Amino acid sequence: MLPYPHIMQLNAGRRSSTVRTVRDASLCRPDEYLITMTEHSTEIRSATDSGFFYAERTLRELPPDRIGTVHDWADVPLRIVMVDLKRISWNYSYLRSLFSLFADLKINACLLEYEDKFPYSFTDRIAVADAFSREQIAELVRTARENHVELIPLVQCFSHWEYILRHDEFAAIREDQKNVSQGCPLNPGTFELFRSMLTEILDMHPDCRYVHVGGDEARLLGHCPACAEKVKRSGVETLFGDYLEQVVELVNAHGKTPLFWADFFWHHDAPLLKQNCIAVDWEYTPRALRAGEVSVGIERIRYGGTLPDRYAPFLDPDPKDRTLFSFPHTSWLTEHGYRTFGGGVVNASANVLAHAGAAVRRNTGAVLATYWGSCDSLSTPLALFPWRIAGIAMLGAACWNCGYEEANNATFYRRLAEKMHDAPEDWTNYALADDQGTLISPMRYREKPEPGKGTLGLFGKKVAFDYEMQTLFQDKPIFERSAFEQVPLGSQANSTLDFEVNGEPCKFTIGRLRFLPQGERICAGIPFLLEDRLALYGCYPGQTVPSSVRFSVGKKHPDGLALIQSVVGYTGMPDRAAECLFHYRDTSVSVPLIWGKNLGNWWVIEDQQDLRIAFANVDFGNHDYSRLGLHLWICRNPHPEKELLAVELNVHRDVIIALAGLTLFEKKTGNAACADLLDRKQKELETLSDEFNREIGKYVGASSIGELNCQAFGSHRNFLARLRKLLN
Ligand SMILES: [Zn+2]
Repeated sequence: MLPYPHIMQLNAGRRSSTVRTVRDASLCRPDEYLITMTEHSTEIRSATDSGFFYAERTLRELPPDRIGTVHDWADVPLRIVMVDLKRISWNYSYLRSLFSLFADLKINACLLEYEDKFPYSFTDRIAVADAFSREQIAELVRTARENHVELIPLVQCFSHWEYILRHDEFAAIREDQKNVSQGCPLNPGTFELFRSMLTEILDMHPDCRYVHVGGDEARLLGHCPACAEKVKRSGVETLFGDYLEQVVELVNAHGKTPLFWADFFWHHDAPLLKQNCIAVDWEYTPRALRAGEVSVGIERIRYGGTLPDRYAPFLDPDPKDRTLFSFPHTSWLTEHGYRTFGGGVVNASANVLAHAGAAVRRNTGAVLATYWGSCDSLSTPLALFPWRIAGIAMLGAACWNCGYEEANNATFYRRLAEKMHDAPEDWTNYALADDQGTLISPMRYREKPEPGKGTLGLFGKKVAFDYEMQTLFQDKPIFERSAFEQVPLGSQANSTLDFEVNGEPCKFTIGRLRFLPQGERICAGIPFLLEDRLALYGCYPGQTVPSSVRFSVGKKHPDGLALIQSVVGYTGMPDRAAECLFHYRDTSVSVPLIWGKNLGNWWVIEDQQDLRIAFANVDFGNHDYSRLGLHLWICRNPHPEKELLAVELNVHRDVIIALAGLTLFEKKTGNAACADLLDRKQKELETLSDEFNREIGKYVGASSIGELNCQAFGSHRNFLARLRKLLN
């Protein structure tokens, strides 16, 4: 069962279907109830309506051929799931149906960020065309109440205002005219806009106890001249603190308690604001209440560089069991008199479980688990809500009976599959979707994923297809072997794999991960010879590498060349920083090498003249290592009819490139098997794409289907089209 009851004693016997309820004031823990089942009567005792409600939900899950007792309560009184409506357009019926799911999971609060889906009447520039109507929102509020889900509306007070400030009508209150993320806290128009939004939101949520006012990632504090002056005079804490104080007072004046994101405290001294508000200490990294001693080094790296010294006491190892305290900010905030909620992320059930454990041990009374449609309203969607079910279900389960979930984590996915009415073997889908940053873009797994069917069946098919595309032509050249010439780097190889640019190490190895496996490697059907050396070329302040490298070639009339290389240092990325020169016997011809806008996101293959692939799977979310992506460029020979003597790669601007492999190829006929394989993959892709459109239509609005499909399958389509061009 999920959540699992605290005390359950069941025996064989058919229980009576007549249910009697008894109000019992002695059952005073949160949502506490006692069910006594005999063959003659089923009795529920509780002190609260919510206790009776959850007892009834538990009864639905108990098999009818059992009698006995269930005594149960919630470990954490407030169990909040965040539904973020930004970026993706939602299917209203699906959104409304979620409250019943939350009730089944014993989740009793929902933080709802409407963003541009709320029908504001004071302006027609914020709401998008498919925003919800007032009638729909009233119905959501009603449905939430019927399911014992407390709604907490979220209205950002000045940061993450991309969805507002992108409109020129609001240009006057931007902190920066080129960056639309934040309003100016000193411009009265900023507070007035917040006041207008808050008034209308509260009008639709008159009974709410809490309002979340956001305030996270206010990265432009002190940017405009007025704000810069105030920061100079009295510090950034005062700039932020004064504005937040104003916001808190306004919310308090409505009789509500504001919540705010507390990441400001990661980097700054505290504003003098402690009363009548709640700091939400969101932390998506720690997986356990205490990180084990073995991860001390990792934690130091994670916190060491950014945390002010005052957090040091909360990072010190516990002398008794020699482990390290996680959630240092919660400790610091609590110690300094703030009421604090912990905020985890539904991306990872382990993170949610860790927050539940911290809430129980510190008695904070609440856990929030956030679902994000995207990082902000201008960036790519991250995941569909239903695909984050593992983290969502963990919120209910761990906040209800934390000890059970900590002790029985190994069976969590199986219990979840059962809860979602899936076959037992379909638990693998929940594991595959858990602990992943993004679920829509093509995903990479180190090992072949083993998806099941059932509720997340479509997701399972997608990741299996992603894996097949990732490994397509990774073991077999697209032409016969004689079609390729692997040009040795020879004397141009001027570096080992470990070197520095501008004082920063550029390692091609991290621990046991090796980005450059030695020997012949096939990438997108093209074999490369990789050595233990690189050819560095380019120009960069303070570096002494040649601006170009030149290779004599054996094949005199190749159809094209392919490069494996990586940008390792740059000061800005102009479109045409590098070029490939084809030196023919009569004259030379230049072909520019163009970087896409998404350097590092090599899995998104842009439909440009280059194609990027890396050999090793690395965490590109960690920017320290994003420069290690190896990219595959396939470049057509502009004049295969002319006699080619040499190939030269050079750089004009401030950039250093590490070349690892260079292969020339001729297009050979007789590749029917490859063509058949491409045809087959193309058909599979379109079948899956159709199914994707049908399925996600249940969750998202019509205006989002095309974009999400393109995000999920666009790079696969381009990849197949490009291989097809090579063959033709
Ligand atoms: Zn300002």
